[in-house]
Amino acid sequence: MKCLRYCLLAGLSMGLLACTPVQTTRPGAVGVSRTQYMLVSEQEAEQASAQLYLQIKRQAQAKGQLNQDAALLQRVRAITNRLIPQTAYFRADATNWKWEVNVQKSDEVNAWCMPGGKIMVYTGLIDKLRLTDDELAAVLGHEISHALREHSREKMSRAYAQNIGVSVLSAATGLGRAGADLMNTAANVAIQLPNSREDEQEADYIGLELAARAGYDPRAALTLWDKMAALGNKGTVEFLSTHPSDARRRQGIQARLPSVIPLYEAARAAEKNKHD
Ligand SMILES: [Zn+2]
Repeated sequence: MKCLRYCLLAGLSMGLLACTPVQTTRPGAVGVSRTQYMLVSEQEAEQASAQLYLQIKRQAQAKGQLNQDAALLQRVRAITNRLIPQTAYFRADATNWKWEVNVQKSDEVNAWCMPGGKIMVYTGLIDKLRLTDDELAAVLGHEISHALREHSREKMSRAYAQNIGVSVLSAATGLGRAGADLMNTAANVAIQLPNSREDEQEADYIGLELAARAGYDPRAALTLWDKMAALGNKGTVEFLSTHPSDARRRQGIQARLPSVIPLYEAARAAEKNKHD
């Protein structure tokens, strides 16, 4: 239904855009499955995100906040590098993305992964929560899963449709340039909008499997969210959106642990064999 409305709005202004039903990922052992409706193409979402990412990096750099701690950067990148190959279990193209991982010095308890694998981790997240590697893998797995499921593209599609709705009323012509501006706005809006409960659940479950397959203890997701909950309302958009469903989130994760713990044990055994 929602999709229909977006398509109508878009159709009014361009007459060409298709509202495509897709499944961005395979279900995996955790069984995530939901048909998604996209108005913005994957390429458009990635381009807009890459631009925004560059802008954020430049701003951080100008303030002397980008990758200031070499050891921390290396730690975050080492964990991410173990997670990325596991994305192939959910979608074949993701290992070919232009992945990028950076750390920004900031008190914010935050981390995100934009479409196409552009990751930023804030030092506040690691410092304030005193994250172990397993917990950091849980956060990164969760954020990467938002990108695999293309939750931002879904949010951009919604924002884009709504913006088009406004622009149709205000300007009947000149969609060329305006279209590009709208896409930028949509990217900005999508990054700032909180994820829905459903998006959060999908990211939790796929994240569990990515971490387990990479040899990180998936049970760390529980201690991570406990730490997050103990911090109260001091998180940012991404983590605030989880509140106040902490108990339900815990239950959901608990229920899926039995399906990923064997994957974790297998990964650990394989790792051990390599060293023996
Ligand atoms: Zn999330």
